[in-house]
Amino acid sequence: MNNESISRRQFLRGSCATALALGGLSVSNTASAEDVKLTEDDATAQALGYKHDASTVDVAKYPKRGGEEGKKQFCDNCALYAIKEEGDWAPCSLFQNKLVAGKGWCNAWVSAG
Ligand code: SF4
Repeated sequence: MNNESISRRQFLRGSCATALALGGLSVSNTASAEDVKLTEDDATAQALGYKHDASTVDVAKYPKRGGEEGKKQFCDNCALYAIKEEGDWAPCSLFQNKLVAGKGWCNAWVSAG
């Protein structure tokens, strides 16, 4: 057995393991996507100032939310919110496999119109 055949075998073994792992992740992510609510202490949520209740956003830190237009911004009218209806919780494309509150907000809010 030469070094090339060993490395090819190791590569194939690693590729199979990776494919299985990704397949498993995909299934479990899909299964949990409807159940997992984003928490406000999530690192990305904190970095973006996300709050479940938009009225509790620190407007000194996020003045965009404090202005007249900002007060009209909620997750359920953000372009990244998956369900275009006012409502409770839905996926946000920014937070993979997590649900955000319809009346929430974060600094990445994008106009849907
Ligand atoms: S990107 Fe939009 S939908 Fe997602 S958390 Fe921020 S405001 Fe809400």
